[in-house]
Formats: sequence, structure tokens, C-alpha cells
Amino acid sequence: MHSTSTIVLNSDALRSNIEFIRSRLGENVRLSSVVKGNAYGHGIEAMVPMIEKCGVDHFSVFSADEAHRVHKVISGECTILVMGEVYNHNVEWLIEQGIEFFVFDVERAGVALDAAKKVGKPALIHIEIETGMNRTGFNRNELELLVDLIVKNRQYLKPQGLCTHYAGAESIANYVRVQKQIKSFNKTYAWLKKHGVTPALRHTACSAAAIAYPKTHMDMVRVGILQYGYWPSKEVFIDYLGKLKTEVKTDPLRRVITWTSYVMAVKVVRAGEFIGYGTSYLAQQDMVIATIPVGYAHGYSRALSNQGLVLINGRRASVIGTVNMNMMMVDITDVTGVSKGTEVTLIGGHEETAISVASFGELSNQLNYELLTRLPRDIPRITE
Ligand SMILES: *Cc1c(COP(=O)(O)O)cnc(C)c1O
Repeated sequence: MHSTSTIVLNSDALRSNIEFIRSRLGENVRLSSVVKGNAYGHGIEAMVPMIEKCGVDHFSVFSADEAHRVHKVISGECTILVMGEVYNHNVEWLIEQGIEFFVFDVERAGVALDAAKKVGKPALIHIEIETGMNRTGFNRNELELLVDLIVKNRQYLKPQGLCTHYAGAESIANYVRVQKQIKSFNKTYAWLKKHGVTPALRHTACSAAAIAYPKTHMDMVRVGILQYGYWPSKEVFIDYLGKLKTEVKTDPLRRVITWTSYVMAVKVVRAGEFIGYGTSYLAQQDMVIATIPVGYAHGYSRALSNQGLVLINGRRASVIGTVNMNMMMVDITDVTGVSKGTEVTLIGGHEETAISVASFGELSNQLNYELLTRLPRDIPRITE
């Protein structure tokens, strides 16, 4: 199939990120690699085998179909955990395959129990509890019903985990809220134990919590964004640097993804002409522009109209006019040696000219990681 752009995934960068993450964890803390959102846009099919090669044997996804995709590409003994939505008709398949899943209400527990009886295998459930995010999770009174169900059906309902999610561990503004969540979590764990239910693994931390709040590590952490080479926020990065005891303070993370396309056409535009649709860009001087066969249909956000930057021959070039469905134009007036076919870097590159992605879309970083997760699945992924 023809594609006008290519995604290259760097396995050395990935390995080094995973080593960094491991270096922050105690020896007995398990690492679950979060590969939801098509591995944050990098591509499940390409990323999961690479991550597995780095020695990771636990993967967390959002849905049963993502679990299915991970299941297809892993080669060794790995645990797959569904953290989000599961349709009732998928539960039997999950149980048959030994895939674990979050249970956040009694109804889901009931579905799991029925399916486990039907399949003749236990449902490996992770009890998600409400600790203050107010999204999904058991409140204490519902937990009593769950405990009752588990105690009466131990051969079918196996609590593999107890978990929660923090409401903004990436910002110091939420410090008190996060501390409260940790306390509430520990209290509920003790309460469950007292009532005869002892989940095997306690896990609460995402990337931000894993870096900023070591006491959230418990038995396992669920790390997404760090693996791909991005900090969850600037605050978390600064917090990390601040706690470093070494003289030299550098960013240990390396971006895994590079997204490239090429120049499709080059054209000279006279001063006073509008470029592209409408009147959003007026040439103030004679200009040379290059057209790139990538637009919003290929995942290059329209929000980058007159904003985005790309790299050509090591120089930054600005996106001019609106990003079209399948094309965009960039200003190459000051870039030499550009012709049809010249490579264009949309994400990636080196050092100060690199086109980087910031998780929280700071303006200085041009691209938001929402853009990553929207990268189409049909762009070929090459691993190196
Ligand atoms: C996405 C997600 C994570 C990972 O978050 P990162 O910030 O990318 O590390 C962990 N836990 C849950 C429940 C999630 O939804």
C-alpha cells in the first residue's frame, strides 16, 4: 500500500527509556507497559514486540480489542490487563485467554462471575477503587457487595490486583489530593484484607506518580508516556532534576518516534499573493514554498495551520496557510538544496532543531501528544 509518510521507531531509545524507568523502581516492583491508544500512536503491533524484547512481560490496554491485538503479537509469557471498557460479550474471551481486567462496579463483577462459570476458568480481576478521582471505581458500600461475591465464589473470582488512578499526579497543585488518594487506597486495602480478600498486586502509579511519588510504586506501576520518551509534564521533569544528586543534569529520556514525509512539489510565489485556501497567509516577499503530501487526514493536526514546523535539510521550515486534508505547504525560502523527494521530518530530528511533542501542548513544543495518538494506523511503522 502506498503511504506518503513513514514512522520509524528507535529500539535503542526505547530500551534506554525502559532502563531509566526501571532505575527509578525498587527491585520487587513490576513494570506494566501501558500501550493503550495504539501504543500512544506509535503502533501496538510494532511497539509491543520491541517492549517485550526489553524484558517487559506485563501490558496494560484500554479495551478488549487492544488486548486482542497485544495478544496476537506477544511471543512469550506475558500478562495483559484491560484497564478500561469491556463489553459483556468480550468477557468470556478474556477469561479463556487468561487476560486480566479492571472491575469497577458490582454489575461488572457479576458478568465476570457468570462468564467464569460458563468458561470453567477463574476471572482474573483487578478491583478498581474510588479514592478521589471520581471517574470509575468502587465506593466502600459497593465494595461490601463485591467482597461478599468474591468470598462466596473464590474459585471463579480471583482478585489479581487492587488499583486506582490519580487525579493529576503531574501537577504539584494536586499534591494534597494525591496524598489523600494514597491514604484512602491503603485504608481500603487493609479493610479488604480484614474481610478476607487479599488482592495479589497493588498498583496505582502512572508515569507522573512513578517519578514524583515513590510511595505509589507498591507492587506494580503502570507506565505509559515515559516509555515513548516524553515527560508527563514539565513539572515532573523539573521535580526529577531537582532530586538528582549528580552535578550534570540532563534529560534521560529519548524520543522513540520519527515521522517523515517528502517534498512533493516546489514553487516560487511572488510577494502579494495569498498561499493556499482563503486568505490565511499572504506572502510578504517573494517566497519559495514546498508542498508536502501530508494533511489532517494523515494525522497532521489542522491546529498547526500557520503554526507547525517541519525539518528539511536540518533547517526548520514553517507551515504556511491552512493544513489541507492531504497536503500542506511550508516556507523553504531560506532552506537550500530542496527538490522533489527531499526528506521532510514532521516529528523527530536532533537536538535544538528537533520537532518535539509535548504531552501538555506547551506552545514552545509545537505538537501535543494528542497528535501522536491520532497518527493513523495505516502509516507504515519501521523499527530500527
Ligand atoms: C493511561 C493510564 C496510565 C498511564 O499513564 P501515563 O501518564 O501515560 O504513564 C496508567 N493508568 C491508567 C488507568 C491509565 O489510564
